[in-house]
Amino acid sequence: RAHLDRIAAVDGDVHAFLHVSDHALDVAADVDARRAAGEQLGELAGVPLAIKDVLVTTDMPSTSGSKILEGFMSPYDATVVARARAAGLVPLGKTNMDEFAMGSSTEHSAYGPTRNPWDLDRIPGGSGGGSAAAVAAFEAPIALGSDTGGSIRQPAHVTGTVGVKPTYGGVSRYGSIALASSLDQVGPVSRTVLDSALLHDVIGGHDPHDSTSLAEQWPSFAAAAREGARGDVLRGLKVGVIRELADVGFQPGVSASFRASLAAMEAQGAEIVEISAPHFEYGVAAYYLILPAEASSNLAKFDSVRFGMRLDVPGGTVEDVMSATRDAGFGDEVKRRIILGTYALSAGYYDAYYGSAQKVRTLIQRDFDEAFAQVDVIATPSAPTTAFRLGEQIDDPLQMYLNDVTTIPVNLAGVPGISIPSGLSDDDGLPVGIQFIAPARQDAQLYRVGAALE
Ligand code: GLN
Repeated sequence: RAHLDRIAAVDGDVHAFLHVSDHALDVAADVDARRAAGEQLGELAGVPLAIKDVLVTTDMPSTSGSKILEGFMSPYDATVVARARAAGLVPLGKTNMDEFAMGSSTEHSAYGPTRNPWDLDRIPGGSGGGSAAAVAAFEAPIALGSDTGGSIRQPAHVTGTVGVKPTYGGVSRYGSIALASSLDQVGPVSRTVLDSALLHDVIGGHDPHDSTSLAEQWPSFAAAAREGARGDVLRGLKVGVIRELADVGFQPGVSASFRASLAAMEAQGAEIVEISAPHFEYGVAAYYLILPAEASSNLAKFDSVRFGMRLDVPGGTVEDVMSATRDAGFGDEVKRRIILGTYALSAGYYDAYYGSAQKVRTLIQRDFDEAFAQVDVIATPSAPTTAFRLGEQIDDPLQMYLNDVTTIPVNLAGVPGISIPSGLSDDDGLPVGIQFIAPARQDAQLYRVGAALE
């Protein structure tokens, strides 16, 4: 009730939600009844959950921020949603996002932008700006996001929240409307490291519905976070800092906050080690070939026949109906990427673009392998700047893409990453995040380190 009241009070300004559940209180009562009947529910039972609209739900529409899916009702729940319901979490509503998760500001949503609760003239990050803003504005205690190139971690950075991109294959993608299948991962958003860990414990683990799901026995991430919070886990920890990132041009306040966090870790016994990751800086270029290639293929299913919108073209052919619908249903950024991806995959250009990008992806993976032979975790600023103003980058796609320079390589390599708040920038008083990256399958390490520094 308190969260619904809070949504009613502030969401007119923030616009974190595309849909608010009309039966959350009934679900909450049902959870109470389950508990009273003796069902063993986890620690998050009864806790309200905001759900990024990229995840399909049977009881609320799922649009992925696009007009082409306006009003779409899924016949099934995403695995992460089903697991959350089973654990007694209470879905509050669906959160706003850049259309099909393409963007870093939530301004590409077909339903209007979300605003940053710290300053309503500024962006909340993207694509999962709705989930991050809902948590930052106390409209929801925790949320689900998806991260293909930074869409959980960069919004966390600009809203002062915690966001986690799990190891690729660690959390099911079943029912997550695909952007780029080799990069997408679902993960938690919260105000504390422990809350993300608790949610990760609920949603993670093998799912036979996702062919890339790892058949792994995961440790308790909540136990790792609690261990970190008890202290002394940083002693002797080797923290890698990437030399080549010095040239990226972080805002002074972002760099200063990063250095202060490193100093705080050193004071707790961590060893800061300079490492080289020479291909890291080519991540954005490789990503903007691989992602559009996969996205153009994934979005081909929105053909006006099987899902969502269909425009009438009197006397038109099937192709006329398809192209009229796709023209009206997709926004500019989505069209830009479909065209780019189709081009990159076309005969004659495939080797030059898609093939080259895949080679760069392999080189970035090797950079991480070599780095993790020397250090336990890698630390970077989570993004180059604090929250920028709405409208500032919307006409400059390249500038928008560069917001993800530190997050994208993590998706290309399939390793886990976390962004935790590292304070407020001296430049403008806005939140700044620090990102930690661990080797594949060592997500627990991120919760341990994150909770120690929190
Ligand atoms: N901002 C990046 C993009 O536009 C990342 C998006 C994401 O992680 N879904 O593709």
